[in-house]
Amino acid sequence: MLASLILKHRRERPLLRKHPWIFSGGVERIDGDPQPGDTIEVHDSTGKWIARAAYSPNSQIIARVWTFDMEEKIDRDFIRKRIEAAVRYRDSLGLANVTNAWRLVFGEADGLPGLVIDRYGDIAVCQFLTVAMDRWKRVITDILMDMPDINTVYERSDTSARAREGLEVADGLLAGKPLPNQFLMTEYGLNLWVDIANGHKTGCYLDQRENRRAFPIDLHGKSVLNCFCYTGGFGLRAASLGAASVTQVDSSENALEMARKNAEANHLDENVFTYEKADVFQYLRTCRDSRKSFDLIVLDPPKLIETQAQLEKGCRGYKDLNLLALKLLNPGGALLTFSCSGAMTPELFQKVVGDAARDADKSPRVARILQQAPDHPLSLDIPEADYLTGLELLL
Ligand code: SAH
Repeated sequence: MLASLILKHRRERPLLRKHPWIFSGGVERIDGDPQPGDTIEVHDSTGKWIARAAYSPNSQIIARVWTFDMEEKIDRDFIRKRIEAAVRYRDSLGLANVTNAWRLVFGEADGLPGLVIDRYGDIAVCQFLTVAMDRWKRVITDILMDMPDINTVYERSDTSARAREGLEVADGLLAGKPLPNQFLMTEYGLNLWVDIANGHKTGCYLDQRENRRAFPIDLHGKSVLNCFCYTGGFGLRAASLGAASVTQVDSSENALEMARKNAEANHLDENVFTYEKADVFQYLRTCRDSRKSFDLIVLDPPKLIETQAQLEKGCRGYKDLNLLALKLLNPGGALLTFSCSGAMTPELFQKVVGDAARDADKSPRVARILQQAPDHPLSLDIPEADYLTGLELLL
């Protein structure tokens, strides 16, 4: 028999709205002796069955719901069905026509809390982020290896989320052929080398695929500043669309090295590119002081807000970046600006960028509101999982 978690009075309400997280503060008691990662039954304070969930005693989110269906057992078959449904959804997007890399599984939105799987060609790269998902590692590896077009399963469970679950980081080959040195990804005709073992996340920011695809202004002969460029994506696209100069800025030498290599991989004129190893906050000030200006600026910073407590400071960071960038923009120019901080809602981001524009004495139009690509779906039941928001602004 499975152990039971009994909720405090009224703490079942989010669950009745299909929100899958149970916070430790909402727990009245636990009956039985569940081990980390075990499946447990969840009951309301009157004893009524509500859900079956994965137990994470070390985390503030003490349990994550697997199912609200009492008939559904949590076993190999359950995991397989959820993965198959996630794969079917990606197939329906027709991504294979435009790229060879996409997200196969995105945690809660695919009914698989704590699991991320990105595929790069025939390589599946997994992140097991909760103690429960970690327990299913072997099963998930087998399911992936059974897929006809997957020949390697590789683990990149090296995020801070693991520590909150009491797990060590874990990287390495789980099954199949060893990784190639680097993987050549294609995305709407652009070539991008990806370092799966050492790159950020699982190697590439796949969520920006659609935003890296095109720009709102004709770039022929224009100047571009790509801030937080990582391996160069936005800047490479800009050069391929005719930009006369592209400045790629990142604080990481490795990232810039890859950006250089990616310019070669696309046979782009090396004279178009300038590489700056710099702190973007500083670099934008240097540009301001030397009266440099650009026609297109991209701001794609790392998460500036990790926790709710950093919200105010983080907002100041975003405002600072956007204010400086807007000041450097030529008339008729465009700014693509992003936040990947979960705590930054699209509404708040618009307010922060609006404040920056007023302080910069600019009145840009919002051409489009941007978000992550559809292989990174959201669940309407978990609005806080929405993390990437962006604006396409025209001066
Ligand atoms: N736009 C990229 C992804 C950006 S990820 C793409 O489409 O692939 C964020 C990048 O910001 C990382 O490469 C990281 O090295 C860099 N970074 C983080 N803090 C920085 C800072 N203060 N100044 C410059 N680069 C920074």
